[in-house]
Amino acid sequence: MLKTLRDITQAVAAADDLQSALSLLVTQTKSAMATQCCSIYILEEQQLVLSATDGLDPSAVGQVKMPLTQGLVGLVAEREEPINLADAPLHPRFKLFTEVAEEDFRAFLAVPIIYQKLILGVLVVQQADERQFSEAEEAFLMTLAAQLAVAVREQRKKAEVKSLPDQCYYSGTSAANGVVIAHAMVIGGDISLEQADSLATDIEEELVQLRYALDVCRNTLSALSQRFDGENEKEVQSIFSALLLLLDDSSLGGEYVREIQLGWSAISAVSRVSLRYIDQFLQMQDPYLQERATDIRDLGQRVLRELIEPQKMHIEFDAPVILVTKEATATMLAEFPQHKLVGIVTELGGVNSHAAILARAFGVPAVIGVEGILNAGIDGKQLILNATRGQVLVSPTPTLIKEYRSHISAEKALQKRYSKELSLSAYTLDDKRIHLYLNAGLLSSLASEIAEGADGIGLYRTEIPFMLQTRFPSEAEQVEIYRQVIQAAGNKPVVMRTLDVGGDKPLSYLPIIEDNPFLGWRGIRLTLDHPELFLVQLRAMLNAASDSEQLHILLPMVSCLDEIDQAIAYLEQAYLEVKQDVHPHLVRPKIGIMLEVPALLFQLEEVSRRVDFISVGSNDLTQYLLAVDRNNPRVSTLYDCYHPGILRALKRAHMECSQYQLSISVCGELAGEPIGVILLVAMGFDQLSMNQGSLAKINYLIRRVSYADLSELLERALSLSSGGEVRRLVAQYLRDNELEEFL
Ligand code: PEP
Ligand code: MG
Repeated sequence: MLKTLRDITQAVAAADDLQSALSLLVTQTKSAMATQCCSIYILEEQQLVLSATDGLDPSAVGQVKMPLTQGLVGLVAEREEPINLADAPLHPRFKLFTEVAEEDFRAFLAVPIIYQKLILGVLVVQQADERQFSEAEEAFLMTLAAQLAVAVREQRKKAEVKSLPDQCYYSGTSAANGVVIAHAMVIGGDISLEQADSLATDIEEELVQLRYALDVCRNTLSALSQRFDGENEKEVQSIFSALLLLLDDSSLGGEYVREIQLGWSAISAVSRVSLRYIDQFLQMQDPYLQERATDIRDLGQRVLRELIEPQKMHIEFDAPVILVTKEATATMLAEFPQHKLVGIVTELGGVNSHAAILARAFGVPAVIGVEGILNAGIDGKQLILNATRGQVLVSPTPTLIKEYRSHISAEKALQKRYSKELSLSAYTLDDKRIHLYLNAGLLSSLASEIAEGADGIGLYRTEIPFMLQTRFPSEAEQVEIYRQVIQAAGNKPVVMRTLDVGGDKPLSYLPIIEDNPFLGWRGIRLTLDHPELFLVQLRAMLNAASDSEQLHILLPMVSCLDEIDQAIAYLEQAYLEVKQDVHPHLVRPKIGIMLEVPALLFQLEEVSRRVDFISVGSNDLTQYLLAVDRNNPRVSTLYDCYHPGILRALKRAHMECSQYQLSISVCGELAGEPIGVILLVAMGFDQLSMNQGSLAKINYLIRRVSYADLSELLERALSLSSGGEVRRLVAQYLRDNELEEFL
């Protein structure tokens, strides 16, 4: 059953166009359910249009259209639930469409196809006998409809894109503001099996490349196959095992080799062999053997991806590009030649995912959650990326390009205006001093004038240099990195966070496979379990700081007091070792924790007895207080730092810290957003740490607001019922104070 579902979904996803996808769908579903008729109705402009059928009159396809208020199919869409009837004509909503010739059918089962709360269409099976479809059949059709939603949606998007002659438009969520015009470089899209024939210039070299690609695929498939080794997962496991067998020399693996020996390049060889075998298998009578064509396609695409794309990052770029990819990992962004990366577009990822944070750290405009863009055939096309509005325009007209160019110049002028004041400290109009710090992770991307304009580095994410290596950096290597960070800050404070990996920040050399990585082995939990790593890192930080007072050490993801006590004991050990062995005048660093785990909101008094400061990680605190994954676009609208519950928690944390004389700052993304800054300053926060792209702007903003005005605004914000209302209220405040350019 599982396999049938997978095969149908895959066939739909892989079809060349929407119409073939729907035709495949109805034929395969009819056969899988051994019924006499299967049809699909797609919702277009509030009408359900018969879009494919196997069993009704095919000439009615595209002709029969019904509003949601008509017929049983309309009822399914209207109610958004399945209908299972033994004798459909008896139902009061039954409406006979003579053009489809359905009078012979009595049994009727229909399920809605829904994608993210929106109806896409209705899938129907029918049979001549008067009988109720079984629960198992109903469950099958519902599961199929749920799995199909994404594939149907993608196919519709593709169809929409194709129907636009030239220019087309996509939208997503802004992850880092800015506007840029450049060509797209797509990494990770569908790989076409139809590659142009090309001859090998050096057969041995082509064989080496093929063998390397086969090895990578073999490793991936074995890892996948091992992941599904439970009793109930044998069916899935067998899919990967079958693919692995096909890679053997005695099977397709050997065929690819032979094709190269005939003189073809590795890419052509894989393409030619795959297409030839797919064709042969599709001609076979036996449905089981026909299905093997899918495996051959799957394997061919995997091998081709290894042959075509790994080198893509190493291509010599002529000009800067906008990277378009499924999910920009931190490593991918960090490896990309930086001066060549001017924009990022991804299908997945949340606004506060680490890739988005890195994009902001690099100051590169980014739009995330753009569905269907990966396979929309835009590689190499010119784009206007209006990240501030979450828009991607493909192949824009010259007039539009001209308009955007003047917009880009205006933006630059604004930034220049903000930057002019960067050397002036951030005081509100009524003289309240707000200290502004930088969030950093990559030294190379830290502009010196920005570092000079900040009051220090408020969050140095040490995991970023760790993520860019293929092994743990040695103690000496770490000392060197941290020394450079401390030097870059002049003599201002530097808050260095100990290794915060796990969650969505994996280390390739320390794979962690967990069901719930954000609730699992991450941050301080991992380092306390590995004192050898923790001590090396602490020693390296202390060594780098030596007798300067700049170093502050920050512990991530702390969830209980015991973790603080253990970490302090290790710090003491490292301190004594470094003092004794290297720096007799070593200064004891200040120690703090990230406030990310909600339980600690209720233990601030105990925390204050142990540490010198806390830094609110509003990205994770929001994720855990709201129980919303910060990376998951399906729930991204629920991930809201302006939720009044979150704001109350922040206000309370500030109040209690003042009471216990515990220094408190905010280093999550909220501290770099104009609306967030207004609210945080209103709560009394006077230490904010943000990305370099926000620093000049926030400094400029603070210098134009009055602290005294803000307390009333805060009271009103806290009494509102949603994040949307809070945002609107603060936006109005900005407008009233002629500060709308910050919106
Ligand atoms: C946070 O959680 O707010 C934070 C600053 O840490 P990170 O984004 O690196 O998880
Ligand atoms: Mg965090």
